[in-house]
Amino acid sequence: MRSALRSPVLAFLVCLSITSGGFGSAYNARPKLVVIVVIDQFRGDYLERYRDQWGEGGFRLFLDHGANFSDCNYDYANTRTAPGHATLLTGTYSNGHGIMANEWWDPEKKRRVSSVEDEATKLVGISSPGPGASPHNLLADTLGDELKLATQGKSRVFGVALKDRAAILPAGFAGDGAYWIDQKTGTWITSTYYRPGLPKWAQDFNDSKRVEKYLNQDWKDNDGKVLRSTKPVDGRAGSFYELVGATPFANDYEFEFAKELITYEKLGNGPATDLLVVSLSANDILGHKVGPDSPEMQAMALAMDRQLANFFEFLGHQMGLANVWIALSADHGVAPVPAVAAKLRLPAASISVDKMRTQVNSALSSRFARTAEYVREIDYPLAWLNSDSFAAAKVKEEDGERAVGEALKQAGMRGYYTRSQLERGDAPNTETGLKYLHSYSPLGGWYVLGVPVPYTVGVSSGTDHASPYTYDTHVPLAFYGLPFQPGTYRSHAEPVDLAATLASLLGINAPSHAIGRVLTEALPASRRVSNSPRGSEREERSMPSVEGRGFQQGAVRDFSVGNNFPASSLAAAVPKRDLPVAEGSR
Ligand SMILES: [Zn+2]
Repeated sequence: MRSALRSPVLAFLVCLSITSGGFGSAYNARPKLVVIVVIDQFRGDYLERYRDQWGEGGFRLFLDHGANFSDCNYDYANTRTAPGHATLLTGTYSNGHGIMANEWWDPEKKRRVSSVEDEATKLVGISSPGPGASPHNLLADTLGDELKLATQGKSRVFGVALKDRAAILPAGFAGDGAYWIDQKTGTWITSTYYRPGLPKWAQDFNDSKRVEKYLNQDWKDNDGKVLRSTKPVDGRAGSFYELVGATPFANDYEFEFAKELITYEKLGNGPATDLLVVSLSANDILGHKVGPDSPEMQAMALAMDRQLANFFEFLGHQMGLANVWIALSADHGVAPVPAVAAKLRLPAASISVDKMRTQVNSALSSRFARTAEYVREIDYPLAWLNSDSFAAAKVKEEDGERAVGEALKQAGMRGYYTRSQLERGDAPNTETGLKYLHSYSPLGGWYVLGVPVPYTVGVSSGTDHASPYTYDTHVPLAFYGLPFQPGTYRSHAEPVDLAATLASLLGINAPSHAIGRVLTEALPASRRVSNSPRGSEREERSMPSVEGRGFQQGAVRDFSVGNNFPASSLAAAVPKRDLPVAEGSR
């Protein structure tokens, strides 16, 4: 073997097959780091809506120098935060990963439980009597888990978000750490699932009182108009999450923490590819209050553009952007505020969930001739049932759920799917039917998924998401990095494709339940050495049809050079224009 490798021809062939057979190699730290930026509540249309206003190096890194999939939609109905984050990293939907809601009714505990709370663990970083958190409810593994498996733990995997579920689910089972904040104080915390105490750098971060920098501040637009204040109202101590969380300051705070993590955990310095998932929560916290069409959301998006540019510049300085792949997506979109849509004569409305629950319970009480609380909670448009009430009325699950579904229709829903029906895989062979099959999870008790009327939301003020409609399912999906051919791709894409694509490019197994496809149209023509008599003849697929300023001969040529260079030369091979560094700021 040793002498064989000394043969220059064989060595050349081996080298060629390594560099061209796979676009990266997690085993050899190519790239050094994969960063996945998930924006909590960011609709797919925003990238175009504000395109003219984006600066250099933020979103335009993806639009001008990356592969941007402009038609990416979740193919399920339960467009919530926990399912979205689980979907992106497991590459499957709720029927594969089990997370179908942020919280659900636990019939044994007889209370609502969150998707990540775990009584076998404790929170770390604050003293709390409550349970800690972990990914224990996931029924599928993640991209990070596969990286860890493939490299025997050499890859390091982290998740960061203001929300626990958005940090924990992406980090998977084998993640080295997930960090989120204590909502009241803004302190960064984790769980004993990962480690018994905070690492020194995280403790130092908390001790530096950076929280105070963001409290009692005015967030102003470009004209100096105050959009929002982080002053506690009327002297009442508000929570950091509510006050700072709904401003761009929250993203600054998250990026500061993420940079410390990258620096002190030495991400991108190891023998294998590392993975960091940063979920930016502020967009969602503000978006629920003011809706997608408000000037505040526009200002938030423009601030985020600059914050992303700053973060990518940091990555460039730390390890060279040629050594990083970056993916961008979101966990769900959002509906317009009903009043805004109604002004344009769309049939939009706010549904009173309390009224709906009362109506359903009274309909069932008469139907079963027994007064009870049959529906425990409505997380519009999803209803959690109280199986004890049905048992007392001697009603089986299937009949009970159907009765609730019919009552929900009477109360204004367009239709419904029951838990027992979805468990059997019994849904019409339609696009909508498939979306609901993908929304099924065996976790939680009895439930009914109501099909909402488009543009209706179950909140009394602001707006919401959790429907199967495009305003909730359409999200960005974009990639930046050496393997990706720049351009706008209008082919069908889904968030489940992210994990499948990255796993393939890294040369590792896709997550256990992944159903996504590899987005080959964004990858350059394959070059490989075949075993045929024609030997090293270059095989190329036909060029994909793409649009976009970035897709020029030059871009392709630059890429090809970078891809076929040995890893040590990658940085040198990358054209300078790909570095999102503002003029003079290097
Ligand atoms: Zn969310």
